[in-house]
Amino acid sequence: MYAERMGKLPPYLFARIDELKARKIREGVDVIDLGVGDPDLATPPHIVEELCRAARDPANHHYPSYAGMPGFREAVAQWYHRRFGVELDPGAEVLALMGSKDGIAHIPEAFVDPGSYVLVPSPGYPVYRTSTLFAEGRVYEMPLRAEDNFIPVLEEIPRDVAKAARIMFLNYPNNPTAAVTLPGFFESAVEFARDYDIIIVHDNAYSEISYDGYRAPSFLQTDGAKEVAIEMHSLSKTYNMTGWRIGMAVGNRDIIAGLGRVKTNVDSGVFDAVQRAAISALLGPSDCVEQACRVYQERRDTLVKGLRRLGFTVDSPRATFYVWMPVEDCMAFATRMLDEAGIVVTPGIGFGSGGDGYVRFALTRSVERINEALSRMEDVGV
Ligand SMILES: *Cc1c(COP(=O)(O)O)cnc(C)c1O
Repeated sequence: MYAERMGKLPPYLFARIDELKARKIREGVDVIDLGVGDPDLATPPHIVEELCRAARDPANHHYPSYAGMPGFREAVAQWYHRRFGVELDPGAEVLALMGSKDGIAHIPEAFVDPGSYVLVPSPGYPVYRTSTLFAEGRVYEMPLRAEDNFIPVLEEIPRDVAKAARIMFLNYPNNPTAAVTLPGFFESAVEFARDYDIIIVHDNAYSEISYDGYRAPSFLQTDGAKEVAIEMHSLSKTYNMTGWRIGMAVGNRDIIAGLGRVKTNVDSGVFDAVQRAAISALLGPSDCVEQACRVYQERRDTLVKGLRRLGFTVDSPRATFYVWMPVEDCMAFATRMLDEAGIVVTPGIGFGSGGDGYVRFALTRSVERINEALSRMEDVGV
């Protein structure tokens, strides 16, 4: 009944974990879900207020423009300038997205021919792989290893693969490893992209979630980046707006135009009222973002300290709201955690073969719940 390409899709592990979790809840278990990459914190009130106001205005009730309203694209350009010192032409170098997943899911349609390669980090956000498969491209996994600080070793990519590659996905701060980029890496990636005529799509969903004074860069701050790259950012993680579906692609105008052309044929833009609320987020006060980072940081410290006390070896992340921990067998560990302690963690293998041997904890639950999880782990001796 289904098309052949459906058979190539990996099983969506996260849907399966949801099923197992639902079963536990039906059995009466008080499940602590440290699996979800969705902030538990509310969207800041001034953004919600602006949505309500804009939703009441009939001017916002029509089809939106495809690329995003001029005011939104202007606000994105201003935010990029203020935050990263990156200059963008709002008319040609900014595109509104229904979340960055929208951009990631559609970019291969514009640039990948059947059989050409897409370079995908492993472990990585699963949509890099599935969007490649929908475009009938071939996935080349770039392993992210602890000994390389979870940064791909570009020299390892075979020449014939590099020559046949159209897109490289990168993502720093990284989900799921919580790694940050290192000085010089973005420069090498630009050079590699130039040498092999590859488009770089940098996913910067976590640029604003960082700790201990670390500030994540934009890929577009790199010399020459705008010749080869676009960057996706989203309001989802920055302003606790995962449910609102708004983000942006910025950078090289030809790449932006290609993505825009695909999307013109797929969706009809982001609800104008949501774009107006997003403008108030981008141009409004940023103390709400700092506040959220303080909340995650306290949770991080609680979890990392607790895990180390239980005998685990684990790094304390400088960015993202994830903790990436090595374990012997990730599926066995995650299964035991759910069965014996009622705790959901994500097995690393769900992010690709490079994630094997790790589990991911999300810091999207309160300090109280994290402490409860730690004491259950101690009780059952996982
Ligand atoms: C959450 C996430 C996204 C998707 O976010 P949107 O809600 O679609 O903007 C994209 N990339 C990574 C790495 C993520 O963790």
